[in-house]
Amino acid sequence: MLEVRNLCKTYRPKHGVPVKAIDRVSLSLPETGMIFLLGKSGSGKSTLLNLLGGLDRYDSGDVLVHGMSTRDFKQVHFDSYRNTYVGFIFQEYNLLDEFTVGANIALAIELQGRRAEDAEINEILREVDLVGYGNRRTNELSGGQKQRVAIARALVKKPKIIMADEPSGALDATTGRAVFETLKRLSAERLVMVVSHDREFAETYGDRIIELADGRVIDDRVLAERSPEEALATLTYTEEGIEIPADYQLTEEDRLAINEYLRARQGGKLSVTAAANARRFVPTKTEEKTEAEQKQSIPTASPDKSFRLIRSRLPLRSAFRIGASALGHKKVRLVFTILLSVVAFVLFGLSDTVASYDHVRTATNSIVDTGVRYASFAKTVKYYDYYSSGYNMTDDELAEVRERTGLPLVAVYNTQTNLSFSMQYNAESEAMKELGMQLRATRFTNFAEITEDSMRQMGYELVAGRIPDGARDEIAISDYVFESFRAGGYASVGSSEYVAIESERDMIGKTLSLGGIDYEITGVYDTRFDFERYDILRKDINELPTADTLTYFIMASELGYEINYGFAGVAYTGEGFLERYMEANPHRPPLRGNLWFGGKTYEESTVSVYPYFDSVIPYAEALPAGTVFFEEGKSTLAPGEVVVPLYAIEIWDNEGEENYTADKIIEYLKTDPTITAQYWEEDGKMPTERDFRVVGYVPIPEGEMTEAEKRDSNLLYCAEEDFDFLTDDHGLYAYAVAPMPTSRAQVEQLVRLSIEADKDYRYELQNGVSYELSIISELLAVLGDVFLWIGIFFAIFASLLFSNFIGTSVAYKKQEIGILRAIGSRSNDVFRIFFSEAFIIAMISFAISALGTGLAAALINLSLREGTGLLVTILGFGIRQIALILLISVGVAFLASFLPVRRIAAKRPIDAIRDR
Ligand code: ADP
Ligand code: MG
Repeated sequence: MLEVRNLCKTYRPKHGVPVKAIDRVSLSLPETGMIFLLGKSGSGKSTLLNLLGGLDRYDSGDVLVHGMSTRDFKQVHFDSYRNTYVGFIFQEYNLLDEFTVGANIALAIELQGRRAEDAEINEILREVDLVGYGNRRTNELSGGQKQRVAIARALVKKPKIIMADEPSGALDATTGRAVFETLKRLSAERLVMVVSHDREFAETYGDRIIELADGRVIDDRVLAERSPEEALATLTYTEEGIEIPADYQLTEEDRLAINEYLRARQGGKLSVTAAANARRFVPTKTEEKTEAEQKQSIPTASPDKSFRLIRSRLPLRSAFRIGASALGHKKVRLVFTILLSVVAFVLFGLSDTVASYDHVRTATNSIVDTGVRYASFAKTVKYYDYYSSGYNMTDDELAEVRERTGLPLVAVYNTQTNLSFSMQYNAESEAMKELGMQLRATRFTNFAEITEDSMRQMGYELVAGRIPDGARDEIAISDYVFESFRAGGYASVGSSEYVAIESERDMIGKTLSLGGIDYEITGVYDTRFDFERYDILRKDINELPTADTLTYFIMASELGYEINYGFAGVAYTGEGFLERYMEANPHRPPLRGNLWFGGKTYEESTVSVYPYFDSVIPYAEALPAGTVFFEEGKSTLAPGEVVVPLYAIEIWDNEGEENYTADKIIEYLKTDPTITAQYWEEDGKMPTERDFRVVGYVPIPEGEMTEAEKRDSNLLYCAEEDFDFLTDDHGLYAYAVAPMPTSRAQVEQLVRLSIEADKDYRYELQNGVSYELSIISELLAVLGDVFLWIGIFFAIFASLLFSNFIGTSVAYKKQEIGILRAIGSRSNDVFRIFFSEAFIIAMISFAISALGTGLAAALINLSLREGTGLLVTILGFGIRQIALILLISVGVAFLASFLPVRRIAAKRPIDAIRDR
């Protein structure tokens, strides 16, 4: 069964001299019987047993199992060998204390890939005299009982060999004897190898005694067959007394014979001695082989057919049990680790919600959650990476937006004039004070032409009066504008006789003077302006608690957007009105956004002159009366020639003081009339430049300027040919507005349109939400990166924690691992155990982290919304984050466990069990 050839093992401790623990040992061991390894302490008994059991590795020589060489065995083969063939019994029992007696035995069965049935366990318990102990914990047992559990555990694998290293060493004599009795009984069917230093036990129970000294076999004897004479033992009568063989039963004849003998003796003491042990050992016959013979006899091909190894498989359940059992021993550490991991994972999860900020989704959510009711689009133009606003839309562009959004957009004309009416209500009235500074309407932002159809499509209802007629100077007003008159009453221009306005009807027929023109109010529309929403703005900001001031500002900004880009602040006119209006008040296109005129210096650089224009117009359309040309008789502008309003020219002397005299400016312009305009194209490396010659000026009006004069005070007059150079904005409409669709999908589509990338221009949604988000998204773009790194940092931190925890756990469980390895489990099983443990921690951390992240995200969203009144729902927490946290938890757990566990898993079982 087992053959040992020339086996050598030398220990080379890190400190100290090498020890030859086994020195050229050769043995041939039978299939059954009880063999004792005898010897003094340090003689190499344990080492030999461990080598035979595959717990340790030899240096040279060979151990043949069923004729098969184990020279080329890998660790995993030895594991399987132990799992299949060897049952180990240790002096220190080496039971798994986390398990019950039954579970300890069941584990050994399961490692062989079999199902552990109760019947089998009970049967084996009966065999070792422990009936009913199945559910007891091992630490409740006495030493003898523990050793019997260890025997049961070894036995249940039905091993061909049982190896016991000083199994009675920790037991009292009687219990020890019982263990040997049991082993003796078992040796009838299998090979039992026992290490002992007790010669008496060896001679009492052994079938063979191998004696070691200094790693060498110094004696090898087998039990001598009893000769027939020996079998017929009789009493021996000597001078001193009677010798009785050990297992001799006295017969009636003996009694009579002894009485006879006693009578024959006269006086003196009689001693009865047991005869010397009848068991007699004779040298084992070994066919001494030469070295050459030994080499030859090493089998190369097929060994014994019955030699088959079972690969261990520790059931996941058991791995989990062992893994989980350790958790309880380090509760504080566990809580600490989980807590810190959770903090790390939550931060990581949060950083991902920030990093994965989705503008479209956020904007959509925010618009829907906030309940923005108007969809307003304005044109923006790309310049480098930014889209700048302030561009007007042309009729073609309006049609394009209408088509792409599918919305009944009403165009709002960019009026360029102050349409103030705040002189026509009483700003001092009580009701007006209650309305507050923010909510009162002071002017119309613009004009918009409406029709019955368009207003119906917008869903705005005429509450009083009728739709205005475009052929006349008539307007309709919104509920928002009406509210100011209801609060402040109405007076005609120049009067302070305020009439009370109680209902919308009261405003019909009243006249508002806007930019110097009188308009009659013909109707009031209900645009469902939400005054309640802006309630906070009624309060005096100085009396608000500090916490509410941010809300106040945000709501004020939102209101600003609604007024400036919504429909409530607009004066509604009839069809055909704008055409008429523009004839009298030509539209002034703004100067090209990034175009500017350079300053000039005069009088040896002691005086500087700067022209500031904000809009431009080809002269043919309007040169104001009073225009002065420097050249006599000139009245038209050739290309490169301009006329400037003196109002638009600033003049400074070098002390930095404004030295503003019209005559001076005229004088300078006459002597050196060239002014240079330049702008950078987006991809231009050099600015596009053009020189203009100032050929005339518009004098500064005397007295107070009219609205028209104010509007034109910074207007540049040019030749038709230079118009396209000076401006790129030919549109008329500041924006176009429609009710916000109610379906989320439609809102999302509008948001997408709004942020289309890689276009020279685009149409952007204009409302408080979009404004806030554009700021936030820029912020988040930067923060996203920062958070990602913070997240990674924390993940690494968590890994270290985990690693430390598992490391401690490994140190703590070293011995158990050794035990498991000794009873046949593989390194893989060891991984299973610790991964189970790590997995449990990971799952707990994951669950708490996922919950925590979701909660934190919701809390942040809520507090941003409720606390500050911010209109946006920024952080989206969902499946993605959950999956990510799961991935990180498990990944961190596994990576962190791998290194410490690999170290223990790679250990030789005997080193692990001895905690080395
Ligand atoms: P026994 O079991 O007969 O008491 P061992 O087999 O345990 O003896 O030890 C044999 C010799 O090998 C002893 O001298 C012992 O000190 C040495 N030895 C055993 N294990 C190691 C080890 N891991 N490292 C170094 N020396 C060892
Ligand atoms: Mg020993």
